Amino acid sequence: MSPEAPVQTTMACSQCGRPFAHSDLVLIAGTWVCADCKPAFLSRVMASGVAGANPLARRYGGFWIRFGARMIDGLIFTIPVLIIAAIFIPNLIRAARQAGRPPNAPNPALAFAFITFFVIALIVGACYEVLMLKYYSATVGKMACGLKVIRSDGRSLDWGVCFGRYAMWNLVTCGIPYINSILMLVSSIMLGVDDEKRALHDRVCDTRVIYKQA
Ligand SMILES: [Zn+2]
Repeated sequence: MSPEAPVQTTMACSQCGRPFAHSDLVLIAGTWVCADCKPAFLSRVMASGVAGANPLARRYGGFWIRFGARMIDGLIFTIPVLIIAAIFIPNLIRAARQAGRPPNAPNPALAFAFITFFVIALIVGACYEVLMLKYYSATVGKMACGLKVIRSDGRSLDWGVCFGRYAMWNLVTCGIPYINSILMLVSSIMLGVDDEKRALHDRVCDTRVIYKQA
């Protein structure tokens, strides 16, 4: 038996075009490059100035820094919601009392106010995350933690990816009653053990969370 690997798929180097065994090529910024072309290609990628384009120079954001960033976003969002609720809910309850209803009677106006409030909060939250990711590659929480979200090849996110990432985390991972705690735990473990720190939504959307200064 030969000690050589039995089947070696050959691939062309993207720079010089010579064929190589798959194992002799390295993936840099989404491009396969041979050992001879690697130094020149790397310096070109770095000079292009695209932050995070070179996967070798990236520092991925781990669980705790990303958890912290989500907490900051949560506070930014929760404080105005609590203020609005504190202003409106007592007024609605007072209005209901003045209308002469018993305190525990069903109150359609109050129910409607809650649902409207919930829907508006959901829409504002989605717009916040999608617009911030599209135009700044980070939410305020991620900016405060020095993080940004990029595609695996270093590009910034397009609209579809921004919305997909929002939907995967907020609506699928966190939004499904009863199984959301399991999905959040699974996603956190995936992030923790992955060498590129990919959570569930990063795998689905092909995104990476990196430190801005790589
Ligand atoms: Zn080459």
